[in-house]
Amino acid sequence: MELDILQANALDALQLLIRTPSVNPSIDPEHGSGEAEIARVACEWLSSRGVRGWTEDAGPDDGERYESGGHRPPLQRVNAVAGIGEGKGRTLVLCAHLDTVATAGMTIPPFEPRVEAGRVYGRGAYDMKGSAAAIMASMVTLAQESLPGRVLAALVADEEYASLGAQDFIRRHRADACVLTEPSEGRLVLAHKGFVWIEITTRGRAAHGSRWDLGVSAIASMGRIISALDEFDRTELRRRTHPLLGPASGHASMISGGSGLSTYAEKCVLQVERRTLPGESTAAVLDEVTQVVERAGCSASVPGAGGNAEIRILLDRPPLVCDRDAQIALAVRESATAVTGRAPEEIGVGYWMDAALFAAAGIPTVNYGPAGAGAHEAVEWVDLDSVTSCAQVLIETARRFLGVRC
Ligand SMILES: [Zn+2]
Repeated sequence: MELDILQANALDALQLLIRTPSVNPSIDPEHGSGEAEIARVACEWLSSRGVRGWTEDAGPDDGERYESGGHRPPLQRVNAVAGIGEGKGRTLVLCAHLDTVATAGMTIPPFEPRVEAGRVYGRGAYDMKGSAAAIMASMVTLAQESLPGRVLAALVADEEYASLGAQDFIRRHRADACVLTEPSEGRLVLAHKGFVWIEITTRGRAAHGSRWDLGVSAIASMGRIISALDEFDRTELRRRTHPLLGPASGHASMISGGSGLSTYAEKCVLQVERRTLPGESTAAVLDEVTQVVERAGCSASVPGAGGNAEIRILLDRPPLVCDRDAQIALAVRESATAVTGRAPEEIGVGYWMDAALFAAAGIPTVNYGPAGAGAHEAVEWVDLDSVTSCAQVLIETARRFLGVRC
């Protein structure tokens, strides 16, 4: 009976979230109008069921900067936050993002939830409105209990682009642990990789194509750098491995350069992505790239400092690692075992999540989420039973984590 109510609440919340478009406006400015509306409806849903919910402004964002080029004015990005329990004991955060990727190319109606054979279809069903619904349903159940601590639901904006929502939440709230709920098919995620985006600009000397005696091609210099980076990737980075994550890696992602067929290229710009393991810092990555560039015969420098290869960091995000004996890992493992009847598989994943931001703020964090398929794809669905089971695990985790006295 209790389970029926939990599932009914989870399905109701999930359908409401799918019906409320929340395409990230930095990915698709034409169709994304920000998270304000979905944050509002999530708060309203929670408040009408006995959970105090409120919105928090996490913006404005930098309207100039988005993937597909062009401009739009800065937009307020909004988180939905909800809290239950007294402030005296520990605080546990349950986190999901409310934004989704775009809908172009989808072959199902993105914003009309359809329930069929135990699956719920729609944009964001799997990534990750199913998880947000699991959190919302678990909050309704937990609000009826007397807890020795606090549970905060962080339903955040902008995970699919710049994580403005999670960063703002972490600035405002203290917590003792966090469970992120990105879909993980019921597996316990203890680690994920980080990444560093690096831009390298080589400088040559422009000259007419016939003037081999004057011209220096920035593209030729970059060619040597690419070769050196590739060798570094194959020989050095592949040797660095983490038991849950496999090897570190790096790759040349985008390149542009030159101004005409009959001109020695004055400038070439390469963007490189480096996927990092726990223990690899951004400073160390920058140092290594600098050495590789110098081994390729260029003089490396920061932009404007006179080297013929300028290196700068565009964006960096840390990796996640949580000790498997950390209290939050124990609480989720025991809860998942109690709910599902078997211990969850423990894994690391290559892709990045907001989890690392919580961990970097000193909040031990793991990830545990429902099952489904089609993240960022034409047909997206989440398994409804796995959403309910995830909600049960979150409820159990809160009870265990808050019940343990320090
Ligand atoms: Zn996601």
